[in-house]
Amino acid sequence: MRRLVPIHAVLYLLSLIALELTPSTPSFAQVITSGPPSCPGVALTFDLCPVRTGSGYDQPLMDYLITHRIPATFFMSGKWMAKHDVEVEHLLGLDFFEVGTHGEVHAHLPMHNADEQRTEILGPVKMLQAHYGHKASLFRPPYGEYNDLTVAVVKLLGLQFIQWNIESGDPDPTLSAGKILLRIAKRVKPGSIIVLHANGKGKQTRQVVEHLTREILPAKNLRPVTVSELLDCTSRTP
Ligand SMILES: [Zn+2]
Repeated sequence: MRRLVPIHAVLYLLSLIALELTPSTPSFAQVITSGPPSCPGVALTFDLCPVRTGSGYDQPLMDYLITHRIPATFFMSGKWMAKHDVEVEHLLGLDFFEVGTHGEVHAHLPMHNADEQRTEILGPVKMLQAHYGHKASLFRPPYGEYNDLTVAVVKLLGLQFIQWNIESGDPDPTLSAGKILLRIAKRVKPGSIIVLHANGKGKQTRQVVEHLTREILPAKNLRPVTVSELLDCTSRTP
């Protein structure tokens, strides 16, 4: 998923972005795919990519997560947020949820220059700050696609670049809940970050998350935590 770009493009980007940064802006170096392996926590992450049809909000899934106060992290695209103001407010108000961003229009970032990538990445970050007073520091690229420019932009903007190490495949209509669960169960371990969807594209997502949180994770002595909790987790009890 990572593509190389010429060094001069990276240097151009650095000069472009340095102008907008304050010296105190934190910078994170890595593309994060998992948390500490010593931590018995697993991050359930849900992308909120824009949709052309349907509500774009998986109500049954969200009802389950909220009713049981299951820690989860959501990556919202700007286009999705524009159509879900009430839902954004609601999710931001729940202390067991964490909210990050997922690009403005769900662009294929490696196809764009540095300035365009910066605009795409910053869109929902600015919207969350301006309209909801929320500072979002976690970022996940649309489609999980990025190149060296993306990594440099995200770092210089002081965001944390969050990928995953378990792809559930939940939007794939050919995968049954059983197959998705088998795929996750084989791979899940302390520190895992699992990517799922909460925009209604995953027809099996609620069923998968129910089995995961009720059976698979407890059987392995693992529990759901937010991404930030996972990254901060150093003890045996997150
Ligand atoms: Zn997406």
